[in-house]
Amino acid sequence: MKTIFHLDLDTYFVSVERILDASLNGKPVIVGALPEYGRGVIAACSYEAREYGLHSAMPIKQAYKLCPNGIYLRGTMGEYSKYSKEVKKLLEKYAPVIQQASIDEFYMDFTGTIKTYGSMFAFAKELQAEIKEKLLLPCSIGIGSNKTIAKICSDYAKPFGVTYVYPGMEKEFLAPMPVEVIPGVGRVMLKTLHSHKIYKVEDITKIPAEEFALVFGKSGLSLWNKANGKGSEKFTLDTKRLSISKERTYGKDEVSQDKIEKTLFDLTAKVCQILRDKGWETATVSIKLRDTSFVTITRAKTIKATNDDKIIFGTAVKLFRRAYNKKVSIRLIGIHLTKFSEFNPQEGLFNREHDDREKMLKAVTSIRDKFGFSAIKFGDGSKKKKKNN
Ligand SMILES: [Mg+2]
Repeated sequence: MKTIFHLDLDTYFVSVERILDASLNGKPVIVGALPEYGRGVIAACSYEAREYGLHSAMPIKQAYKLCPNGIYLRGTMGEYSKYSKEVKKLLEKYAPVIQQASIDEFYMDFTGTIKTYGSMFAFAKELQAEIKEKLLLPCSIGIGSNKTIAKICSDYAKPFGVTYVYPGMEKEFLAPMPVEVIPGVGRVMLKTLHSHKIYKVEDITKIPAEEFALVFGKSGLSLWNKANGKGSEKFTLDTKRLSISKERTYGKDEVSQDKIEKTLFDLTAKVCQILRDKGWETATVSIKLRDTSFVTITRAKTIKATNDDKIIFGTAVKLFRRAYNKKVSIRLIGIHLTKFSEFNPQEGLFNREHDDREKMLKAVTSIRDKFGFSAIKFGDGSKKKKKNN
């Protein structure tokens, strides 16, 4: 069971403006567009401004009508990113795994740290106090067994609170809440839910998953899972500069498309083995081609994160076929994976075929780890027929 924190800075832009100018404390402060321009929306507003009915994304014109005495500011983006970096630096002192979700939001994985930090709730309180004391920024923290519940908790805790939903209590915690607390429920979805007389989270969980998915489709299933307290535990790793790649330079420049694709297939299998050994999945596949006159081209495609050879090779071979000019012989071919996240087996829920493939890949990975890479070879699904073996 994971222990995930979602830390969200309270009225962040306003809080920074108040550090820069203390006279803004206690007043309705609105950051975003200026009313005299008549266009634009609220980026952030203080709780004092919210009492007038203001909220973020509201057109500034409308805001001005509701709150003509508010203090309207354009905002100081440079300062916002500066303070955001300071917050991250402070959090990095404690959090083993951290993922910044936006300028004022951080997910942290504190799983297994109870011996180091003691009670997670008390620790979160201390963390919150330290950020307030050292950086003068108020924040709220949600703690839960997955990212979704942690995010809902931090919202629930606002302002300047901490909420911890114990593992196993997720469903009970969410049941009486309005459906719009669930991240991803936008205006359109909310309208549809209301038209089905679904107002509270428990109205969703009372409906069997299959039935709910029939009406609301694929996104409905994800919503149903969230309503039941489930959610992603996956952290996008801060591995921007990391990559896994394999290349082959031919002794003699290669002209056979079949042979080049076979090479690409073998290289893909190798990078995927490394990927799975690390427990990661990739969301960007690139290929590199160098022709006989040393012209090098690279092509990349972003895909839904996966660790499956079949999908990765499928993507790579498509990129190759688009880039490849049959008339020119090839000197080097390479495959390159980037944009990693931790592999999350939960995604396969409700999908039997996916689960089976996942098990198979796991088996292949461990056999290769034990007996070497060539102990198992996959068939190349992209080829129509193999002449012989
Ligand atoms: Mg915030």
